[in-house]
Amino acid sequence: MSDTPHFSTLAVHAGQQADPATGACATPIYQTASFEFQDSDHAARLFNLQEFGNIYSRLTNPTVGALEARVAALEGAPAALAVASGHAAQFIVFHTLLSSGDEILASNKLYGGSVTQLSQSFKKMGWGATFIDPTDPENFRKALNDNVKAIFIESLANPGGIVTDIEAIAQIAHDAGIVLVVDNTLATPYLCRPIEFGADIVVHSLTKFMGGQGNSLGGIIVDSGKFDWSASDKYPTLTMENASYHGMVFADVFGPEMGNIAFAIACRALGLRDLGPCLSPMNAFLLMNGIETLPLRMEKHCQNAQAVAEYLQAHDKIEWVSYAGLSDSPYYNLAQKYMPKGAGAVMTFGVKGGYDAGVQIVNKVGLFKHLANVGDTRSLIIHPASTTHRQLSEAEQIKAGAGPDVIRLSIGIEDHGDIIADLDQALETL
Ligand SMILES: *Cc1c(COP(=O)(O)O)cnc(C)c1O
Repeated sequence: MSDTPHFSTLAVHAGQQADPATGACATPIYQTASFEFQDSDHAARLFNLQEFGNIYSRLTNPTVGALEARVAALEGAPAALAVASGHAAQFIVFHTLLSSGDEILASNKLYGGSVTQLSQSFKKMGWGATFIDPTDPENFRKALNDNVKAIFIESLANPGGIVTDIEAIAQIAHDAGIVLVVDNTLATPYLCRPIEFGADIVVHSLTKFMGGQGNSLGGIIVDSGKFDWSASDKYPTLTMENASYHGMVFADVFGPEMGNIAFAIACRALGLRDLGPCLSPMNAFLLMNGIETLPLRMEKHCQNAQAVAEYLQAHDKIEWVSYAGLSDSPYYNLAQKYMPKGAGAVMTFGVKGGYDAGVQIVNKVGLFKHLANVGDTRSLIIHPASTTHRQLSEAEQIKAGAGPDVIRLSIGIEDHGDIIADLDQALETL
């Protein structure tokens, strides 16, 4: 490889070496729970974190490690930690950052499952989350207080093509001496690399566009290596002596001379060790295979989504379309800055005729799969008001961007003419 391989090259090669035991070219699935020690000194060094190596697959596994190295390279980061799902990634990040009584500020335009995690399970841990309208970044500054230890946003928010001003919000976080955590699931590092705009930690649901084929759950935590944990006493998990590692201070031992990867190490050595949501080697293998074609898929996803958005916008049975690739979107300029190669493949639109028309569309499409996921090679459709958001009142649905007329699409990589023809025949039935 050249010294500075480009993104598509990294997507295929980063993290992968011929298997030292067999020479196998594809990364083997190391389907094992534990690993034999060379002797008891070796075992002691591993348990003390004095030497990196494999002990038990809850902590590390070579197949999972290859995936971690690949995603770290794609995000331009020194370290990453793969876990069982996107939600597990978020939870371990906050478990490492927060103590009981701490709070975060979160965008009020997050993926619905994240809103539930932050508003419900956070309480059980004694953590707080305040939801902030991110369309004016200054809203975050106004809501800061001494207990706030992190700001959490999505680069490109599910569902409605909302792009967040990462650079402005990173500045506000850093002025306050706290970290910015960015969920980069819908953009993927192919479209947007949040660390280049000041993000300190990036999380992904690998389940979506990264794996890209709807066959495996997975998540990942990416450590930018840029945050100075020792600059304050806000993050005791990283800066205080840790009793379970003989008084080791993560920020000292894994500081600048080790690439400043204390956060990634603590997420593994404490979060993954104690909470336990490790990624299976099989899923790591499938996700890694998927990532090899990420650049090709994202190109096609974005081209198809742009064509579908333009088709819908011109259709007389459609009230509105929310997609940041449309020049009249309020997020168009932010999309041009943060994801110039394309605005992703997820969009929402409002159909004339409200709830009944929405239900009819999902029943009449043929190519589109009616299900609750995004980021598959296949085109997906859902009517949130009759599915994911059906427990809410109509007023709550509208507030959540899931009013009775709203339909969400995740555009696949099929032929765009076939995708549009399918929508067209469904719309004709109204
Ligand atoms: C799906 C999703 C998650 C949660 O990921 P899982 O892998 O389903 O746990 C988090 N954030 C976003 C933006 C998502 O789309």
